[in-house]
Amino acid sequence: MPDLPHNPVPRLTNEIASFHAHVYYDPATTRSEAERLRRWIDERFFVTLGRWHNVKVGPHDQAMFQIAFASEVFPALVPWLMLNHGSLSILVHPNTTNPRRDHLADPLWIGPPLAVHGEKLPEEAPMEQAPPPNTMFAAPATGKEPRFPQLTMDRLDEKQKPLGEQIAKVSSIGIAGPYNPMLRSPVLGQRLFDLFYYLRWQTSVPTRLNEFAILIIGRQWRSQVEWYAHAPLAAKAGLSPDIIGELKASKRPSNMAEDESVVYDFVTELTTTQKVSDETYARAKKVFNDQQIVDLTAVAGNYVMVAMLLAMAEETVPPGKERPFKVGEK
Ligand code: ZN
Repeated sequence: MPDLPHNPVPRLTNEIASFHAHVYYDPATTRSEAERLRRWIDERFFVTLGRWHNVKVGPHDQAMFQIAFASEVFPALVPWLMLNHGSLSILVHPNTTNPRRDHLADPLWIGPPLAVHGEKLPEEAPMEQAPPPNTMFAAPATGKEPRFPQLTMDRLDEKQKPLGEQIAKVSSIGIAGPYNPMLRSPVLGQRLFDLFYYLRWQTSVPTRLNEFAILIIGRQWRSQVEWYAHAPLAAKAGLSPDIIGELKASKRPSNMAEDESVVYDFVTELTTTQKVSDETYARAKKVFNDQQIVDLTAVAGNYVMVAMLLAMAEETVPPGKERPFKVGEK
């Protein structure tokens, strides 16, 4: 019977701190193909793209650039690379404490395998954690097509155009975010826009409290777009950075004025227990009139609907902007 390799127990995948994919190209013939692939990756995945190495570097036998990524990105990115590598060879390897073994014994190749000069690599090195992504934007890290491709003003049809023009005048994110799916149903979209307009600029609730209510909903829904768009508006309206920071960390803010604590408790009770207790209602009556209580309830409900549209359409923050809530954060 042949000897089994000396491996008394299986290795655990928690040895793997992160992954690299090395995309090889020939500067004379396939650089433009590599550029296109890099751009596609940049638009689709949470990864760190290394710089272009037009000459051989380290153990690598060809010009290449590196993609560094977290293990969570592997199931989306690697199959996508299998389908989209074109004529390029890609080496995907884990990062453990043994770079030589990572590159030589344990990698996988997409496309034709190339030489790797393992003698240039150490057998013992600190594990490389996934670096912070330099491309924290674009589609979620799923590699799939957007459900609602982003509309642009020049692509709006006659029914969408009047609404698109009104939105463009007041929106910090143009016709992206909730407006992108809303424009697909222009009559509904117009009525929602009119409602948003009231709730943003005509409501009886003071802006600081109105924006606080919107952020409470944005946090509950972990809505990247709502938080991205409204946290600056709340700060500008005078809500303290501490309150915004604690809310973002899913805490009941510790230093709220009475009207702020009423808004927090009123909106949180209503959305999490589906009622408002007599005690909280009595507190609300001391700081708000009836119209304000109705407007406060409506703004909270409206932003639940907005969060639903955003979640359904898988909308995210504009290109190049950081997402407020990170992957894996609750
Ligand atoms: Zn590497």
